[in-house]
Amino acid sequence: MILILFGPPAAGKGTQAARLKERHKVAHLSTGDMLRAAIAQGTEVGKRAKAIMDKGDLVPDEVVVGIIGDRIKEPDCAQGFILDGFPRTVNQAKALDTMLTGRKLGVDIVIVIEVDEAALIKRVENRANEAKAKGQPVRADDDPETFKKRLGVYKAETAPVLPYYEAQGKVRKVDGMKSIDEVSAQIDGVLKAVKPRKSWFG
Ligand code: ADP
Repeated sequence: MILILFGPPAAGKGTQAARLKERHKVAHLSTGDMLRAAIAQGTEVGKRAKAIMDKGDLVPDEVVVGIIGDRIKEPDCAQGFILDGFPRTVNQAKALDTMLTGRKLGVDIVIVIEVDEAALIKRVENRANEAKAKGQPVRADDDPETFKKRLGVYKAETAPVLPYYEAQGKVRKVDGMKSIDEVSAQIDGVLKAVKPRKSWFG
C-alpha cells in the first residue's frame, strides 16, 4: 500500500509516519530526512541541497524525484511505503504517478494533517527552544522567518498538489490540532475505512 502523508511543515507528518511504520511494518520515506542525510554525508546532492533548504526553498524536482525513484526500488518498499514530504509540487506528483504506473502500482490514499498556521508557528518556536535548552543544534530552516517562508512555499507550490489527488478521489483529512494519539486514531480510522481495497498493508 502506498500512502502519502500530506500537510504543512511541522504538521506532525514525521511523527505519524514513524508510528505507522512501526504498526504496519512498511517503509517510511521522508525526503527531508534523506536530503539531510545527504548533506551530512557531503554527497553531490547534499551539496546542491544545503543552501536551498537553509533558505526554506524547495530543492529542484528532478533531485527529489531521482532520490525517491531510487529508494522505492529497495526491498523494504515491496510491501508498500509511506511518503512524507513528497510530492511537494504538482510536477513531483505527476512524476510519481509515472514511476508507479510503470510498475503497475499507484498511490492508494493521501491523508492530509490539517493544522492552522498560528499553531504551526508556535510549534516550531517550541521545537527550536527545546533544542536550544538541551544544547542541541536548531535546524536552520526552523528559524521563525525561514519557517514563515516555508509556509509561503507550502501554500504556493505544495497546496496545489491536493486538488490533483482530490480529482482522483484519494484525499482524506484528519484534524492535526488534536493530540498525537488522537491524530493516530483518526488515521487508523481512515485506513480501516478503505481496507477492502486490494494491496493494503500486510
Ligand atoms: P518539514 O516537514 O518540517 O517541512 P522536511 O524535513 O520535510 O520539513 O523538509 C525540509 C526541507 O527539505 C524543505 O523545506 C525543502 O527545502 C527540502 N525538501 C524536502 N522534501 C522536498 C521535496 N519533495 N521537494 C523539494 N524540496 C524538498
